[in-house]
Amino acid sequence: MFTPGCITLGVSDETAWTCPTCVRDVATEYCPTCGERRLRARDLRFRGLLAQLSQSVTNLDARLIRTVRCLFRHPGQLTVRYLQGPRKPYIGPIAFFLLTNVLFVGMETLTGSNVFATPLAQHLRNQPWSEWVQPIIADHIAARGSTMAAYAPVFDKAVADHAKSLVALMVPPFAVMAAIVYRRSRRPFVAHAAFSLHFHAFMLLLLSVALLVPALDVWFGGRGLSSQLLDNALAIAHLVLCALYLYIASGPVYGARGAARVVQALILTLGAMLTFLGYRFALLWITLYFD
Ligand SMILES: [Zn+2]
Repeated sequence: MFTPGCITLGVSDETAWTCPTCVRDVATEYCPTCGERRLRARDLRFRGLLAQLSQSVTNLDARLIRTVRCLFRHPGQLTVRYLQGPRKPYIGPIAFFLLTNVLFVGMETLTGSNVFATPLAQHLRNQPWSEWVQPIIADHIAARGSTMAAYAPVFDKAVADHAKSLVALMVPPFAVMAAIVYRRSRRPFVAHAAFSLHFHAFMLLLLSVALLVPALDVWFGGRGLSSQLLDNALAIAHLVLCALYLYIASGPVYGARGAARVVQALILTLGAMLTFLGYRFALLWITLYFD
């Protein structure tokens, strides 16, 4: 049976205490070595357990809101703060990227859209590599003993699933491009990796919001993304905002200035488009050979 009496001993909030993990005397509220907090009497009540739940939820909430706000209001600052500190108030770049990816998948499912997936028919017709891959795809279908009509829907479903879940594949090549474009800044590679993660988180959040536009358009009687005009307008707006993000963020992160800053941001925007194209191309092979 649990007896609260023996625990309250030595739990008075003023005196020094012994960290049970490090077995050393500590005079501050938290152990400076491992971060353990002095056990208080209320921690041992059921109410303390509930308080922990609400604390962890609001703590995550506050950090998430702060992180998103920093990303949009001060492009680049999130990367700078990750590299120089403070880190505690924000969600780290990898966790943040994954969260935005989850949101993006949710929004795509909700609106029934597929931003990154390219159906087989398009791979065969209007991609830069169409002519080259036509015989390869034909051979592949023959090897499966299938026909184009039967295989296309199978491919399209698989490529849609991969397109949502493999967005992270775009992060490393873009980081390498940033390392090349901003090589003069002599930043360590981790800076480019964080820069790329934050840029892709920005892009995924932007796309998540953009997905609402055609959905609302359909809701109000429009044609959604089947309208070429709306599709193009969204694509251009997205590109401009990405370019703007890269231009602004390159200041605090890489110390970019003047005309070079504009040129570098444009080159990197082109790099982002190439990464996107490369992703579509990679998805073709992943879907052909891993399904
Ligand atoms: Zn400790």
